[in-house]
Amino acid sequence: MPVYTLPELPYDYAALEPHISGKIMELHHDKHHLAYVNGANTALEQMEAARDKGDLVWINKLEKDLAFNLGGHANHSAFWENLSPTGGGEPDGALKDQIDKDFGSFAKFKAQFTAVAAGVQGSGWAILAWDSIGERLVIVQLFDQQGNIPMGLTPIILLDCWEHAYYLDYLNVRADYIAAWWNLVNYQDAAARLARAKSQTKGLIIP
Ligand code: MN
Repeated sequence: MPVYTLPELPYDYAALEPHISGKIMELHHDKHHLAYVNGANTALEQMEAARDKGDLVWINKLEKDLAFNLGGHANHSAFWENLSPTGGGEPDGALKDQIDKDFGSFAKFKAQFTAVAAGVQGSGWAILAWDSIGERLVIVQLFDQQGNIPMGLTPIILLDCWEHAYYLDYLNVRADYIAAWWNLVNYQDAAARLARAKSQTKGLIIP
């Protein structure tokens, strides 16, 4: 039995139109995300075979395969839940309070997140994350599916900045994709992630 499985989308492919087309959602979920799931399972299987044979000469390749593909599976699994046909607007409650505390205001947070997403070089993600060490929200750039991220962060809001996420709809104009994406952000999902992160990560790295 495979360890990792492709989750169902919580809405129809076309539910996020006109901001993200059904064609992109179908390809992105059914092809791209599935490839990460399969890649992560294959990496684990190949590691097991290597251990059994006592032949670890390719272990560096397998480590990179696991990090890339499990990263892709994790990022997209959260990304789908982060989107909603009825999303957008502004957060309220504890999520709003935490954003105000750590960024000054929602407007300042939105400006920083937009700049971070626009500035991702090559393929990667912009992520609002809970830092369990500083006990605060931070915005980070994640390169490819796994790079440039310190331990101790839990994703709260993720934006896929790979070209496969927007090129069919927006060609090379990532700024338009980012602007459209703000209309889809599911702040209820983000608030639930923040509550889980706060309750489950305190003391995880530094007791
Ligand atoms: Mn993607």
